[in-house]
Amino acid sequence: MDPWVLAYDGFDPAAEGLREALTTLGNRYVATRGAAAEAEADGVHYPGTYLAGCYDRLESHVAGRTVTNEDIVNVPNWLPLTFRPVGGEWFAPGGDVRILSCRRRLDLRRGVLTRLVRVRDGDGRTTAVEERRLVSMDDPHLAALSVTVTPEDWDGLLEIRAALDGRVVNAGVARYRELNGRHLVPLAAHSSADGIVELLARTATSRVEIALAARTTAPGHPGARRAALTRRAWAADVLTLHAHAGEAVRVEKIVAVHTSRDRAIGAPAEAARAAALRAPGFEELLERHAGAWERLWARARVESGDAEVRQTLNLYAFHLLQTASPHVADLDVGLPARGLHGEAYRGHVFWDELFVFPYLAPRFPGVAEALLKYRWRRLPAARRAAAREGRAGAMFPWQSGGDGREETPDLHHNPRSGRWLPDNSHLQRHVGLAVAVNAWRHHRVTRDAAFLAGFGGELMAEVARLFAALAVREGDRYAIRGVMGPDEYHDGYPDRAEPGIDNNAYTNVMTAWLMRRVLETPAVADAGGLTAADLDRFAELAHGLRVDFHDGVISQFEGYGELLELDWDRYRRGYGDIRRLDRILEAEGDTPNRYKASKQADVLMLFHVLGEEELTRLLTGLGYAWDPAAAARTVDYYLARTCHGSTLSAVVHAGVLARVRPGASEPFLVEALNSDVRDVQGGTTAEGVHLGAMAGVLSLFGGSAERRANAHPGAGAGAEP
Ligand code: BGC
Repeated sequence: MDPWVLAYDGFDPAAEGLREALTTLGNRYVATRGAAAEAEADGVHYPGTYLAGCYDRLESHVAGRTVTNEDIVNVPNWLPLTFRPVGGEWFAPGGDVRILSCRRRLDLRRGVLTRLVRVRDGDGRTTAVEERRLVSMDDPHLAALSVTVTPEDWDGLLEIRAALDGRVVNAGVARYRELNGRHLVPLAAHSSADGIVELLARTATSRVEIALAARTTAPGHPGARRAALTRRAWAADVLTLHAHAGEAVRVEKIVAVHTSRDRAIGAPAEAARAAALRAPGFEELLERHAGAWERLWARARVESGDAEVRQTLNLYAFHLLQTASPHVADLDVGLPARGLHGEAYRGHVFWDELFVFPYLAPRFPGVAEALLKYRWRRLPAARRAAAREGRAGAMFPWQSGGDGREETPDLHHNPRSGRWLPDNSHLQRHVGLAVAVNAWRHHRVTRDAAFLAGFGGELMAEVARLFAALAVREGDRYAIRGVMGPDEYHDGYPDRAEPGIDNNAYTNVMTAWLMRRVLETPAVADAGGLTAADLDRFAELAHGLRVDFHDGVISQFEGYGELLELDWDRYRRGYGDIRRLDRILEAEGDTPNRYKASKQADVLMLFHVLGEEELTRLLTGLGYAWDPAAAARTVDYYLARTCHGSTLSAVVHAGVLARVRPGASEPFLVEALNSDVRDVQGGTTAEGVHLGAMAGVLSLFGGSAERRANAHPGAGAGAEP
């Protein structure tokens, strides 16, 4: 096994979505799933292309309601390229042309996807096709195909058709198909005599203009005839040339993409056209692209384990960098939880950066800073959200997209019951704490005083203000009520109409952590304009936040200890895979809110983010007795009550158990490693990779220096400026 190559042999319709996602090529500006160039969306193939930060908002009617959703837009497909012997049938899935063999190979070191197919048409003609594909890491506006067509047993006229297709919609996630996915308004499509095919579209409501231009040439065939084909939202160039058995015909399609969000351009259409005309040929593009990857790998590599583990680590670093490469520094975008690899979670940004920063921040501090800038630019929106609830500070949305408003949908769909249900996950206020932790981590890596005195400090101070406002004094303790912790299976109490749970231990202890950091760091107080009264209150919270305990363990939230025990054996026997216990219970007319059963690490997140030492310091600082035996009890307790319905859960358990219960860690490490490469959740990777889990795995295997520098943001406190 080559640790730098991901290879797939043969064609398996059931695995195609997964393979497309894992062979996605991108450069942070644009990413394209590894779909066959001759394919359209057909239930098996899904050639999605996404531009970072290109969102659009549409209304839909579901369950008798009008809902509004913002999606990352599936933009026009730049891939289409197919061939036929003149008079024959175009090579396309489902047609008369049979695939004899198929092999795909993703070269992770150079960022090149190669596909080799042999096909036979209805008249018995056999043709070999080799495609190489890149999405330039050197110039983020360029992508290219080099396709070699070799007739094996026939001579004659060969036609090659290269198109741009703007007829695409968002339909990559089956659960969302009842929602309106028509985000593109076609504006123009044409193919001109100078060999440039152009397509212009705009998004329906965000009105981003997207321009593509393609230049297709057959370098060894100056005599090739060129014809233009144009339809609505689709345009193509058709090259006709003489082909001979055993002689390869090579064509290249160089594509440029620009949008009205780009800087330093005039009109996007003009910019794309000029870029396509100016771009060098495939080989030179490839050389520059591979050079850019070489420079990235010098910083990105995590070397550990056997060849199979190394391959997975390389694959995960590859996809992370394709979503968060240094090109991000020029863009105003966050880190979409599912990459630019599919439409799951609509391209939105959650708290998953918390899992990405330990890997990213020390290696690519510029990228980390750019991701924090995305949050900082949305500080006014977060302040407005807090103010709407009558609170000070900044309340970041659980799902963030274009303008920083709350994008969590009102309803989510349970495919098991067919019902649309209220989605309360926006109550996960802890997302703001993740922003603050990441700002702190970034500072620990860079020691950049200007960052803390500037926007980094402002972020931390504003989040601290919000949590100080959320906390209410009750007796001698402070409580935070009506929120959700990281575990999404508990969004309320079984006997309470209002959603939300009280005193989530993760939220409360992380709030105490933040208060301490702010109090210890005068630069943050200055940057955020904190008053003496603010700081007094923060000091009270640092010592006075409430944490509940039951049975000698930290309670995930107040009242958790009174919930019922789930009959785990019965559910495992009855359903096999119970990761999505929420859907199973809801379909049975029940709810996880009644049970001690968590989707993912929640209390254990404290161990993951803070480490045992800092957690001990915080809990004792809050006046609670805590020792290694209590830590071990707490870990065991939740281990037995968590069903790992999020890929993040295995990462956390692998890391925490390795320290607290070394013998029990291995299965979680394996599960975390396999999360995307083996699609452990059975279908979710096809809709987009899980960047939090990918990066979490890289950190688990990363060097000890990285762990020291990052994993526990509290460690070394006191030595700070
Ligand atoms: C998890 C969240 C996560 C989100 C996006 C959900 O399934 O429960 O913790 O942020 O996926 O990755």
